Amino acid sequence: MVNYGQEAYDFLEKLSFSRTSGSEMEHKAANMIADEIKNYGLTPTLEPFEVKWDKPVHALLKVTSPVEESFTVTGLINAADTPEGGCDAEFYYMRLIDELTLRQAKGKFVLLNDRPSEENYKKLMKAGIAGFLWMNGSSRDTYENSDLDTMRYRPSYLKHGKVPGFAIRMIDAMKLLRLKPQTVHFELKTEEFKSTSYNVVTLVPGTDLSDETIAVGGHYDSVEFSLGSWDNGAGTVQVLGLLKHLSKNPPRRTVKAILFGSEEIGLEGSKAYMAAHPEEGESLLCMVNLDVGGNLLGSEMAMVTATSAAEDYLKGILKEGGFSTEVRPGAMSSDGTVFADYTVPAINFASYTPRNGGYMHTRYDNMDMISADVLDHEVRQLIYVFGRLTDAEVFPIERKISDKMQEDIVKYFGEGRSQTEKRKKGNKEQEEK
Ligand SMILES: [Zn+2]
Repeated sequence: MVNYGQEAYDFLEKLSFSRTSGSEMEHKAANMIADEIKNYGLTPTLEPFEVKWDKPVHALLKVTSPVEESFTVTGLINAADTPEGGCDAEFYYMRLIDELTLRQAKGKFVLLNDRPSEENYKKLMKAGIAGFLWMNGSSRDTYENSDLDTMRYRPSYLKHGKVPGFAIRMIDAMKLLRLKPQTVHFELKTEEFKSTSYNVVTLVPGTDLSDETIAVGGHYDSVEFSLGSWDNGAGTVQVLGLLKHLSKNPPRRTVKAILFGSEEIGLEGSKAYMAAHPEEGESLLCMVNLDVGGNLLGSEMAMVTATSAAEDYLKGILKEGGFSTEVRPGAMSSDGTVFADYTVPAINFASYTPRNGGYMHTRYDNMDMISADVLDHEVRQLIYVFGRLTDAEVFPIERKISDKMQEDIVKYFGEGRSQTEKRKKGNKEQEEK
């Protein structure tokens, strides 16, 4: 019997290095993936797209009274620069964002427990804060075992305004609060970062139903400090396992595989892909996305962004094939949702850990988490599901996104930022005419 798991594990081990959006290492990973696909006798292409953002190049935070002490912080991507020489403001720890605290926050530099929701961010901007700081990591971290990564908030926030923003280790936030700070000095300078990221695209032509196409994909980039074995080297090697299988067992329908760059900065790879191939929004039968997998501890899940009939179909065939995977509806924060936004039914396979069994987007996302046996099981599941989809006499999933899922998609992308919302508005205008 073929051991898909060991092959997947071996390649994943090689791919386990930090692969951040637009970096040389991300490009290296794209080339490694393309070379592996060539080994199967298939022809991958690298589709480039531009990525750019305002990258913090200088960030400083200092308590100025009642004592003076500096803290290690990172500037937030998409935050505003301070004027030359920095800013000084009163310090305020906002334990909760509510009417009372918002009233007291005016003109102050505020500490928040977490990254604010867009709604709370809007309230903070309206309240006229001078700047803000949020906590990152855990209260049990040490300097030796933690990293402070360059965090960002979504571009959709920017329409509400921007102020200088920072992130601080939770352990430092505790230290800072013990000083009972009254005033702080802060400085932030950003510079435009522009680079190229790549999607790796491969076509496996179908036999007698070759004009019908199913997409499969997963992102291969990672965040800073993370080796991205779980998120999402594991999804990447599952797609490779499927491609290897299909190269030897030609499917009836055509399969298009896309390994995305730059997912971690806001699904940029899949957005660039659909912007370059909008006609596929009309033609793809469905998209199967893989994001996080291979974890020794945990369980398998599939989130369906389509209809309840599609969920029931998937539940049925997984039972039939003997795969214990929880199926539920939703718009997952991953590339499949971009396809669903272009009306392509999406199935997102993921594999979650028990609580505290895995730390996504940290240095602990590495091969220690990964099991070749679990990868084997997941590759087999993917091959099984694809066998059903590619070889069905009539394609079993209707090309439809339910009203509820459309709502979830619009909510996920935020106001004015989804194709679904644009389409809905267009339809309404048509009706009114
Ligand atoms: Zn991911």
